[in-house]
Amino acid sequence: MEILNKIKELLPENVITRVELEGSEIIAYTKDKKFFQNYEEDVKKVVSQIKKRIEMRPEKNLNMDQEFTKEKIKEIVSEDAKINNIYFEPERSLVVIVAEKPGMVIGRGGELFKKIRTETFWVPRIERVPSVKSDIVMGIRKYMHENVNYRKKFLNRVGENIFKKNETSRNWIRIIGLGGWREVGRSCSLIETPKSKIMIDCGVKAGATGSEIAPILNASEFNYSDLDAIVISHSHMDHVGFVPALYEYGFDGPIYMTTPSLDLATLLWFDFIDVMQKGITKPLFTAKGVKEAVKHAITLDYGEVSDIAPDIRLTFQPSGHILGSAFPHLHIGEGQHNILYALDQKFGRTMMLDPSYTDFPRAETILIESTYGSYRNVFPPRYETEKIFMDAVNKTMERGGKVIIPSFAVERAQEAMAILIDNGFKYPIYLDGMIWDANGIFSAYPEYMSRTMQKKIYNGEDPFASPLMKRISSHNDREKLWDSNDPCVIISTSGMLTGGPVLDHMKNLGENSKNTLMFIGYQSSVSLGRRIQEGYKEIPIQIGSKIINQKLNMEVVTVEGLSGHSDRKQLMAFLNRLPCNPERVICVHGESSRAAEFAGDISKIFGVDSFAPKNLEAIRLK
Ligand SMILES: [Zn+2]
Repeated sequence: MEILNKIKELLPENVITRVELEGSEIIAYTKDKKFFQNYEEDVKKVVSQIKKRIEMRPEKNLNMDQEFTKEKIKEIVSEDAKINNIYFEPERSLVVIVAEKPGMVIGRGGELFKKIRTETFWVPRIERVPSVKSDIVMGIRKYMHENVNYRKKFLNRVGENIFKKNETSRNWIRIIGLGGWREVGRSCSLIETPKSKIMIDCGVKAGATGSEIAPILNASEFNYSDLDAIVISHSHMDHVGFVPALYEYGFDGPIYMTTPSLDLATLLWFDFIDVMQKGITKPLFTAKGVKEAVKHAITLDYGEVSDIAPDIRLTFQPSGHILGSAFPHLHIGEGQHNILYALDQKFGRTMMLDPSYTDFPRAETILIESTYGSYRNVFPPRYETEKIFMDAVNKTMERGGKVIIPSFAVERAQEAMAILIDNGFKYPIYLDGMIWDANGIFSAYPEYMSRTMQKKIYNGEDPFASPLMKRISSHNDREKLWDSNDPCVIISTSGMLTGGPVLDHMKNLGENSKNTLMFIGYQSSVSLGRRIQEGYKEIPIQIGSKIINQKLNMEVVTVEGLSGHSDRKQLMAFLNRLPCNPERVICVHGESSRAAEFAGDISKIFGVDSFAPKNLEAIRLK
């Protein structure tokens, strides 16, 4: 390949043995000890010429003995870093160091990192041990490690695809809606450029049945075999839920997401398999699809720029919505066109996350959510919201009741926990249905949280480690909880009452008017949650094949401002803050009338072309 030969030519003669691709990353191997210890200047020159990053690695025969290397690392790194495991990937000359305090392994300005590299002739990779034990985080790392040979070949194939001269007859850029346009759920958009085709998000629609549950993949524009990549904004099922099915159909290309997104998605995918198996609808995928998706994942950090297809460069920036959630920014061609995918987002401060990023100098096309796009969708200020939340909780505790909070496993649950702890709450907080597992994932990535939360965690005030948190791990635990008269908070999945243990809690606690049902997240129009919000006073309970309606006497409270989405004011403020001048704003991810209303108002206020297309519409961008 041209670029690889060029790099070999540019670097000093006789030191480079081979140059390989791992995705868009260029890896050069050397057999020369001296060069490996001091290559910075030479490599810098080449990088500035080719405008691509190069990672230098030693050939196998330079690697020091593994036992010696382990000892050496323990000598270099202070014990306070609490190294918990060290293992090797000789196929790539990598040593993986797993520590409780990764920063202390890297050292100031990367000083220890460099020392390890130059004294052991292995390239270090550093991973954090989660403060709450997480089978998912550890399981994925182990799985990637076991599949290192496959990964190596796969990443090379992806790299070759990225750098190939892909000539097509297309001279346009188009975006096509396959789901989530004029609706909330099954988000999926296809982008076609002169040299590439990618998909952004591929979700399912909670509570929907039949073909409405999945994106519209029988559209003639879609063929998974010519898809270069899938890009995932964040790990809610309505954005990531259908991905394993694509791998089961035979897609074998890369999926790009942040590391927390991959961990959270895997947790949700496995859970969804359970839910599907219990349900009536035919399962959309199995564990095989999940494993394939993980095997093909390429994770990127916020701000990391990466080529993902022959003419598309991707950067993720934080969107303030959930842990690891990102705005994908796509740079197409040589600056021909830029697309900002601004959903889902929160342009406001929360306990867990900083507000969404806005510093995009260029974006000719913006896709934005309209979940709360109507002029009526304005939340109370944050402090007021927290007060409404705490007052409702405290009132229930005083009358000896229990508060049930239906929540997605991810984000709203953790936000509610953090608010309770921050307000000095003294009663037990029971976590049911995967929320505990999600906490484990959160605790592995403090660097993805708000600056305030990071500070708290580093000062030992980790809300996930609070003794008030109680895990419900069996039906027996639930029965004990229902029988007890002690006030408490129960946070349980699913968030829209479409399934999950929350329905069991409602069945057993719903008749008692001392208790409270508290909604803190979005309820889709087809969900039981929405019906109850609108005044429905019964809970349908399935007994065998029969459905029986049981009275709902508990207090029902909706706390709106805790949503992980921007409200109407925040959406407008976000658009206003962007430094770029978009040519068009496409409103998606909203109920039909809200999306249309929002688009109309954006046109009026910003004087920019704005519209709310329907699924299957295609928009030419260039
Ligand atoms: Zn979301």
